Amino acid sequence: MKRILVVGAHVGDAELMAGGVILKHTKAGGEVFIVHMSKGERGHPSLPPAEYAKQKEREALESAKLMKAEVIFMPYEDALIPNNEEARFKLAEEIRKIRPSIVITHWVGSYHKDHENTSRVVKDAIFLAAMQDLPIGGEPYSVSKLYFAENWEDPIDFVPEVYVDISEVFEEYRKAIEVHEFASGKFWGFKYVDYYTSLARIRGIEVRTRYAQALMPDKSWASYRVKVDLL
Ligand SMILES: [Zn+2]
Repeated sequence: MKRILVVGAHVGDAELMAGGVILKHTKAGGEVFIVHMSKGERGHPSLPPAEYAKQKEREALESAKLMKAEVIFMPYEDALIPNNEEARFKLAEEIRKIRPSIVITHWVGSYHKDHENTSRVVKDAIFLAAMQDLPIGGEPYSVSKLYFAENWEDPIDFVPEVYVDISEVFEEYRKAIEVHEFASGKFWGFKYVDYYTSLARIRGIEVRTRYAQALMPDKSWASYRVKVDLL
């Protein structure tokens, strides 16, 4: 069974945009690793970032536990996720350790610069992880396939193409995203849980099932025409 790595910019992103896919994969016996580039610690209306970071870390661990996924925290700050070589090398080292067949991350067409930077860093880190003689720990490793997940902040030219039926894990998906306090919408009014569960229903209707999550394969990828089963 293939190993999947999901990279999100802020704690909550990976879970919301790919939680159903994660659950479906771990339920079938596969392994999933979640890398959070930042904790999203600047997203609370009143708690100081250092304090909210601790809450976000707890929520990330609890949510991942419900999805039976492993969690890795990168050291970057919310709103300051870099698009540079240091971040690429650091992530490439994680890719060499985890050795995933499939990587899922943000689509680059985003309103949020952290999401856009994460997308660019992930794509280049996959490329660098396979190269010899770079300042990256571990043995060179080639990821088979890169997918972009659907995120309300990354809608510019996103096209849902690959649908994963998540009907069987939908209730667990809902529980895993409800762990995140911000997802209720109480901080800023955007109701994440309502949005993502409704989106899963819409994607499900489109492919004649109950619930689904949609992905977009990276078309610039050399392996675009290589057949890779998602699960
Ligand atoms: Zn985010």
